[in-house]
Formats: sequence, structure tokens, C-alpha cells
Amino acid sequence: MRFITYSSDLDSGLGVLVPGEPDLFVPVPGLAMLGLIRLGEEGLKRAHDALMAGPKRSLAAVTLLAPIPELRRNVFCLGWNYAEHSKEAAHLRGQEVKLPERPVFFTKATTTVNGPYSDIPVDARVSEQNDWEVELGVIIGTVGKNIPRERALEHVFGYTVINDVSARDVQTAHGKQFFKGKSLDGYCPMGPCIVTRDEVLDPHALPLRCRVNGELKQEGNTKDLIFDIPAIITWLSLGLTLLPGDVIATGTPSGVGFARNPPEYLWPGDVVECEVEGIGLLRNRIVPA
Ligand code: MG
Repeated sequence: MRFITYSSDLDSGLGVLVPGEPDLFVPVPGLAMLGLIRLGEEGLKRAHDALMAGPKRSLAAVTLLAPIPELRRNVFCLGWNYAEHSKEAAHLRGQEVKLPERPVFFTKATTTVNGPYSDIPVDARVSEQNDWEVELGVIIGTVGKNIPRERALEHVFGYTVINDVSARDVQTAHGKQFFKGKSLDGYCPMGPCIVTRDEVLDPHALPLRCRVNGELKQEGNTKDLIFDIPAIITWLSLGLTLLPGDVIATGTPSGVGFARNPPEYLWPGDVVECEVEGIGLLRNRIVPA
């Protein structure tokens, strides 16, 4: 199933997309996305019952929000998880390529969460190097700690699309850490829906791409993840409890702005589109903060 969080003049809440009718959805009364995820099979059954009962509504008549508009905690993120992206960054710094032996983790603040078609506010006083990063997002379904590799995918509720918008100058100005430059308000567009795990035959065979003003900037495939989804979950859950509704951004392929020659960044008026085939597409306009 494919789940959205919507708002309209009339109401707001959780919706399930109508299979085969991509422009229609049915509201799931009395449940929000986090509640649905926490309920597990029972939640999916309630959504299915709602889908059968109707009524169908038009997606065009509502605003889509991030699937989980208010996260319980920061978005977990992977750095350097595609070899070609590691190479482009190392090349830029004149360094030898050294692929990570263990996943590189960082987080984005909950206040970065933004809608799939919402504006991204950029403040030139804060950053003039705002960059794009298309990523496959993983939504955790069930609580787990020290999760073994062979059980890791059982903890996945579903998948979404994430743009890990990054202020490069803010990253480098603060000791080359990731957190601050990745955590500006609105810097994590997400959605447009969460696709449940059962609908994604192979999460390690998904083409993903990013366009800016219609021009292709990134093109990759999740088959090239250095640490695949079970490896990410196994490492992340080592001594750290994963909770239902946690979001993991699995890393970005090559083609980001800072590694281009000359470097390219996002400016007010630009439209950035991030797509993971079979999951969905984000389209966000850059506006002055
Ligand atoms: Mg990233």
C-alpha cells in the first residue's frame, strides 16, 4: 500500500492511495502515519478496510505533507554510501579515495522535515552553497536493537524519497561536521508517500535521479549502495534502539553540486526534483527565507 499525509480546507490526516488510480486516495479515519506504523498488521488491516469503504478523493484537491510531518527524533543519515559519490568528493579535495569500512552516520534535525512539493527556504546570510542530494528513505516499522542482518528487512515498514538538502559552507565552517549544514529548517523534503515494504520487490534495484530546473544532475541506482539496507540497520541498531517511525536516509549517488566544475548550488527560483523510481518524486521550489 501507499500512504500519504494530507491537509485540506476540510480536514487533514492519513490517506491511502487507490491502487491503479494514482490521482485518487481514501482517508483512513482515526489514524495518523505514526499510529499506523505502530499498529503494524492491525494498522494495515484498518487501512485496507478504509480503502474498500471509500469514498475516493482527488489528490489534486489536497496538499501533501511529509508522510510523517512531526518526527519523534532526528532523521538518521548515511554519508559516503555510494562509491562514485565518495570518489567525486575525494577527487575535489585532491585526496585518495578511501571507501568507509563502517557506515558513516549523522542526523538531520526534526525541523528540517518538509513536504514533497513545498518550498525550501534558503537564507543567503546563513548559506550560499545549498546543494541537493536524492536518497532512498527507509521507514522503520518495528522496535529493534542489535538487529541481525538476516532479520533487518523485517523491521522495515516501507520506503520514501528524501532530498538531503545540504549547506556546504555551513558544513565546512563548523569543523567539517555534517549536522549543522544538514539541519537548516525545511532542508529535508520527504514523500510524496510511504510505499510499504511488500510493494517494493527489491529495494536494492531502484534507479534514483535528481533534476534542477529540468536538467539531470544525479543518476544512480540503489544497487550501488556500499552498505545495503540490512547492513545499515544492523550497524545502526548496534547498542541503539530503533523505533517505529524512525527514518533513515541511505545516502546519495554522485552528481551533487559542490563536486561539479564549476560548483553549482541552489538559488531562489530554482526547482529541484528528486525521484526514486517506483517510490515517487519530490518537486520543491527554492525561495528566499
Ligand atoms: Mg546525504
